[in-house]
Amino acid sequence: MSAQPFWETKKLHEMNMQEWESLCEGCARCCLFKLEDEDTNELFYTQVACKLLDHKTCQCTDYMNRSTLVPDCITMSPENSEVFSWFPPTCAYRLLSEGKKLPGWHPLVSGDPESVRKAGISIGGWAIPEDEVDDVEDHIIELDPDEGIKKSGT
Ligand code: SF4
Ligand code: SF4
Repeated sequence: MSAQPFWETKKLHEMNMQEWESLCEGCARCCLFKLEDEDTNELFYTQVACKLLDHKTCQCTDYMNRSTLVPDCITMSPENSEVFSWFPPTCAYRLLSEGKKLPGWHPLVSGDPESVRKAGISIGGWAIPEDEVDDVEDHIIELDPDEGIKKSGT
């Protein structure tokens, strides 16, 4: 019988730094602009990505200075679990914080670093850079809460 993986046995705040970092599948969905309905607080995702995102690697181009350069960029840690709901429903941190399992396309489960892109979870290839957009509201999209597939664009 094989041992259970750490993400199924530990709470987020019990993980060491390496385990915590390995949860991020690098989808970059948290780098998409979101809009909130003032009346209902409903959150809408857009196809528009932060100006600091490298669209080829889906990595932040200035991670160390991101909070200064992009004040809206949320820094996540095991201690500030209240921000998890601001992350996409497919985000590993949010899933685990809600007591859910990691999906089959997560690299920790699949063993394949490319499985995020193959499953359509990575925003590489369909996100639009911030500086190419006039009005973010014109680029609202739908993200399937279970599969995380981009279902419609503009
Ligand atoms: S949404 Fe979550 S898993 Fe995806 S890049 Fe952001 S922190 Fe990592
Ligand atoms: S500053 Fe970096 S990590 Fe933050 S949203 Fe922009 S690209 Fe993503």
